[in-house]
Amino acid sequence: MSQQSNTAATGKPVSEFDAIIVGAGVGGLYALHRLRGLGLNVGVFDAAGDVGGTWYWNRYPGCRCDVESMEYSYSFSNELQQEWKWPERYGTQPEILRYVNHVADRFDLRRDIRFNTRVLSGSFDAANDLWTLETDTQGTISAPFCIMATGNLSTPRVPDFAGLESFQGKWYHTGLWPHEGVDFTGLRVGIVGTGSSGVQSIPIIAKQAKHLHVFQRTANFSLPARNAPLDGGVEQRHKAEYPERRKAAFDTPFGISGYPPPKNSALEVSAEERDAAYEAKWAEGGSISFLYAYNDLLVNKEANDTASEFVRNKIRATVRDQKVAELLAPKNHPIGTKRLILDTDYYETYNRDNVTLVDARSAPIEAITADGIRTTEAEYEFDAIVFATGFDAMTGALLDIDLRGSNGTRLKDKWADGPRSNLGLMMADFPNMFMITGPQSPSVKAQMILACEQHTDWIVDCLTHMKSHGMTRIQTDKAAEDGWVHHNNEIAEGTLYPLANSWYMGANIPGKPKIFMPYVGGFDRYKRTCDEIAAKGYEGFTLSTTELAAAAGD
Ligand code: NAP
Repeated sequence: MSQQSNTAATGKPVSEFDAIIVGAGVGGLYALHRLRGLGLNVGVFDAAGDVGGTWYWNRYPGCRCDVESMEYSYSFSNELQQEWKWPERYGTQPEILRYVNHVADRFDLRRDIRFNTRVLSGSFDAANDLWTLETDTQGTISAPFCIMATGNLSTPRVPDFAGLESFQGKWYHTGLWPHEGVDFTGLRVGIVGTGSSGVQSIPIIAKQAKHLHVFQRTANFSLPARNAPLDGGVEQRHKAEYPERRKAAFDTPFGISGYPPPKNSALEVSAEERDAAYEAKWAEGGSISFLYAYNDLLVNKEANDTASEFVRNKIRATVRDQKVAELLAPKNHPIGTKRLILDTDYYETYNRDNVTLVDARSAPIEAITADGIRTTEAEYEFDAIVFATGFDAMTGALLDIDLRGSNGTRLKDKWADGPRSNLGLMMADFPNMFMITGPQSPSVKAQMILACEQHTDWIVDCLTHMKSHGMTRIQTDKAAEDGWVHHNNEIAEGTLYPLANSWYMGANIPGKPKIFMPYVGGFDRYKRTCDEIAAKGYEGFTLSTTELAAAAGD
């Protein structure tokens, strides 16, 4: 990192860069690689001790990606995608972290990254078109451009249970897992939460623990992943087709190749034909494949009911105790409107003698005690508690930084009623600050690595355009932002997504505004919109010089 030092008006030393990237996960790393290619002096800062973002923090047992490994990887370097060998159909967290480390080394990225550094605040100096950020270990840093690659699921959340500090055993959050691992052998364990993290870790913890109690507030839909060692032939074919497949992936609604769009409504075919189709998808494994069985599963409740009931029946057929099966069978949201989970032996785990499902909906958790967990009905004693309770998703990491844009606009105030952005890329009153996979972009509804590449490529083209036109500032117009927020909401309203109390809706955090945050109009459509806006000279954005902006009163 060849930073230049200077002294601010405050007398404090400032490290100056051409661009600052916050976050060294898959988004930040690619942004660093591309911005370096522009000849910029870039500083990257991350609170973690190393690269990887979500794959650095989430080390809980069973952690694995739910996108197939041949697709869940960078597309920007054919050499990289040809040389890397994925051992399994779905990558485990250690495998993916190894891959991200390989990318960091292969492209010599580490030298511009400062780890163990949290960005605390940032403000924009409109007179000089300069962002100045305060960090906890690296002092003050500044740059004309800031790229926030802070992740969508990077702010782990333990609910505010009374008495947590009194617990005499050990407790863990899946998103902050100890690097040395945890051995639950012979322990009485309680786990709270049955989202993707809970569902992936429960079968493994159950095999170790003396007894595992699972506290479930809301049942979730999960499908068998059908994970297996990656077939050599499949890998070879995929690699031979990589260039065309990646090109095709950018033109799909979710950034993943290999799933032909469905043509029929679930309601157009007979019940027998439908069940045969669902059965084939169930056997194949994979959430996109299942939800792509018909073209209306996420927009028509009656169509969705057929798929939801198919999976409920699978749960009933798998779990021996029918009372437990009924509790595990989700009834309060349509399948796919919360992240559809992929598992290995999740429902089967409830047939074990050492696993008990606790209904934390009818008897909510009241407190953590010195000995364990107390619900409104009973007390449970544990040696260890695992919180698989999720994240302050999509907005949490950005709101944790005290960001102030032009005229002192605070992000916390701007987003008080929910996130507002243009394309999930920029926010009005926050000039020269870009987000990678920000709220109101496809983000978590697309293959995240491709989504990061698409955003970064757009930003790099934009910076190149600005430089060639002698511009120093870009900001989104408020009207364009309003239009995009409206468009985002309108598209979500046309789907079944708002029917679920999901983290997509901010519903998992008490007091968080209920706004559907990811863009669900399709990654392909979104990318076309971004490209069209760029082709029209960044329509909806104002490009200027410091002097021009000052003359316009900005
Ligand atoms: P999550 O989906 O938000 O699940 C959190 C769980 O904790 C829910 O079951 C929730 O119940 C429960 N919970 C929260 N507060 C509670 C309370 N006070 N009492 C009882 N239960 C409580 O979080 P996650 O499982 O960490 O997953 C988050 C997202 O990360 C996923 O949806 C996915 O996108 C991503 N992820 C992906 C993978 C993968 O690729 N395979 C793996 C892990 C995570 P309610 O539903 O009732 O709120």
